[in-house]
Amino acid sequence: MKPFAYTAATSLDQAQEILSEEWGSRLYAGGTDLLTLTKRGTVSPDHLVDIKGLADFRYLRHLTGGGLAIGALTTLAELEANRTVHRRFPALARSIAVTGTPQLRNRATVGGNLCQQPRCWYYRGDFPCLLHGDEVCGAAKGENAYHALFGYESADGNRCVAVHPSDPAVALSALEAEVVVAVPGEAPVNWEATPIDDLFQQPTKDFPGTTILNPGDVVVEIRVPEQPKGSRQVYLKAMDRAAWAFALVSVAAVATLDGNRLADLRLALGGVAYKPWRARHAEEIARGHVVSPELVDEIVELAAEGAMPLGANEYKVPLLKGLVRQALRAVTDESRGI
Ligand SMILES: Cc1cc2nc3c(=O)[nH]c(=O)nc-3n(C[C@H](O)[C@H](O)[C@H](O)COP(=O)(O)OP(=O)(O)OC[C@H]3O[C@@H](n4cnc5c(N)ncnc54)[C@H](O)[C@@H]3O)c2cc1C
Repeated sequence: MKPFAYTAATSLDQAQEILSEEWGSRLYAGGTDLLTLTKRGTVSPDHLVDIKGLADFRYLRHLTGGGLAIGALTTLAELEANRTVHRRFPALARSIAVTGTPQLRNRATVGGNLCQQPRCWYYRGDFPCLLHGDEVCGAAKGENAYHALFGYESADGNRCVAVHPSDPAVALSALEAEVVVAVPGEAPVNWEATPIDDLFQQPTKDFPGTTILNPGDVVVEIRVPEQPKGSRQVYLKAMDRAAWAFALVSVAAVATLDGNRLADLRLALGGVAYKPWRARHAEEIARGHVVSPELVDEIVELAAEGAMPLGANEYKVPLLKGLVRQALRAVTDESRGI
């Protein structure tokens, strides 16, 4: 491994100054992703800036008007153990419970979880990859069993086809969470909240990054709004083994019922795109309609609308449909619980 400098930051300003001024410096939180990448040589930082000790960004707070603010350095284990998260945001609690292992969740931060790098073997190996600065995404026409169904225009290799690996991001998308990003030199009063889906970007040859963050930008808070009264939530994850695996496909659903009518439905899909993929057309069609087998069939079909399997990942389409059907059953059928 290449030698690197290490700074345990004592303030956010100090961390941001180094990160924005020193090319080759990298922000380090729990380190569960960054260290693995560094050891393999996938990334070779000159300077690691450790923000884990910044206790000001490790909290859970109730927001005025409901909702929850989560400091980005809160560990996944702390979120998992929190009663408010369990009671009011069960989809989020479940998405965390199926993330990695207890050891990992003890160390990993929620900010790091959102900003982790793709689990693509072209990226993590020594193969053609836009994130390495290569001309082409090797997975587009290669080994793509775990790759995207949505979000790229053609499999010509000009766009990255890796999927975002985070489970919590998918639940947070269905909960319509926002992320607050601290920009170097900006006072906290000017930090803006961005819808979580807009944090992510699809790497291309010209923009080889997975988030919209510039050097020195730090995710400092995640805001989860209060959900409609009586809404029901679920997070389902399909894996190729029973535990400790990334999602082949996952579904987060949040439904609000008015009698047997769906007043609102939010469906976020994981393991299928470079960001949590909202099934917007399905959500639109569902809104205001009485739950019926025909409506469920329609939502299931619409959730997979526009899917473009790459070759080795066709199995994800029926898997996605089956998971959406199961999620709809869980959020619309009182007797099944969540
Ligand atoms: C064996 C294993 C199994 C796993 N299984 C799952 C799984 O099932 N589901 C899942 O969702 N994840 C899984 N993961 C990924 C894991 O959740 C992430 O590694 C972890 O959440 C990253 O958090 P961290 O604090 O350790 O981040 P780090 O490793 O410190 O950082 C990760 C990246 O995010 C950047 N970063 C960190 N914090 C911030 C911030 N506040 N603002 C801006 N950028 C930031 C860093 O610069 C780095 O690029 C698994 C990981 C392992 C090793």
